[in-house]
Amino acid sequence: MSQSDLIGEYLRVVAAVKFHVEEQIELGFLELPCEGGRFQSVGTRLKSARPGLYRDGELAPSVVYESMEDIRIAVENCRACSLHASRTNVVFGTGNEEARLVFVGEAPGADEDQQGQPFVGRAGQKLTQIIEAIGLSRSQVYITNVLKCHPPGNRNPLPEEVQACEPYLIGQLRLIKPRVICALGTFAAQTLLRTNRRISTLRGRFHTYQGIKLMPTYHPAYILRNPMFKRDVWEDVKKVRAEYDRA
Ligand code: URA
Repeated sequence: MSQSDLIGEYLRVVAAVKFHVEEQIELGFLELPCEGGRFQSVGTRLKSARPGLYRDGELAPSVVYESMEDIRIAVENCRACSLHASRTNVVFGTGNEEARLVFVGEAPGADEDQQGQPFVGRAGQKLTQIIEAIGLSRSQVYITNVLKCHPPGNRNPLPEEVQACEPYLIGQLRLIKPRVICALGTFAAQTLLRTNRRISTLRGRFHTYQGIKLMPTYHPAYILRNPMFKRDVWEDVKKVRAEYDRA
C-alpha cells in the first residue's frame, strides 16, 4: 500500500469513528462500556432494526428511528434482555406524541403489564392527580418509562435492562422533542442525567437532557408511601408548569 493509500485509509477510519461517536452522543450515550480491556459500543451488536430479528441478549439498535411506529414495532419485538420472557404486554407509552411535557417513570408495574399502558395502577392514579393539579390532562402530555417491560415482583431494574431498553426512550424523546421532561424517581433521573446522585439532591431544580429542561422529582409511588414529600413534588411540578407555559 502506498503512503497516500495509507493516509486515505487513515482518514476514512477517523471519519467513521467521528461519525459513530457523534451519533452515540446524539443518542444520549456519554460513555463507552469497557469490558476486558476492549471498548464495546452500546447498541451496536444488533445488525438490523427490523422486527423479528432480536435474539436473546442482543441490544436494541443504535438506529435513529424515523417514527414512533418504528420504535413501537422494535419494542414489541424486543428480546434484548430477559424481561421479554415474563412480560404479558410491552408498555410503550401513551399520550400526545407532540407533547411539550413528557413524564418518564421507572418501569411498568403488574397493572401496567396486564393493560399495556403506563401508570394505570395506584401510582398512576397519583400521577394523574399531579398532572391535573397543574391544569393539564394525561392526553395533553406524554407518559412513558425507562423500561418497557415489567420487572417481576416489582424489583428494581437491573443495569443491563436499563442499558438494553434506553435506546427506545432516547428515540421517543428525540421524536417528541418536548420542551420539558419530568423524571419520576431515582431511576428515570439517574438514567437520563447519567448520574448516581440521589433523587433528593437532584430534585427541585432544572437539569438539561439533550438541550431539554429536565426536572427530577419523587416517584408517585414514593409519595404514596411517604406523603410528607407531597409538598416537594408540588413545588417541582409548579416549576414544570411554568416552564411548559414558556414554550
Ligand atoms: N411505576 C412506574 O414507574 N411506571 C409505571 O408505568 C407504573 C408504575
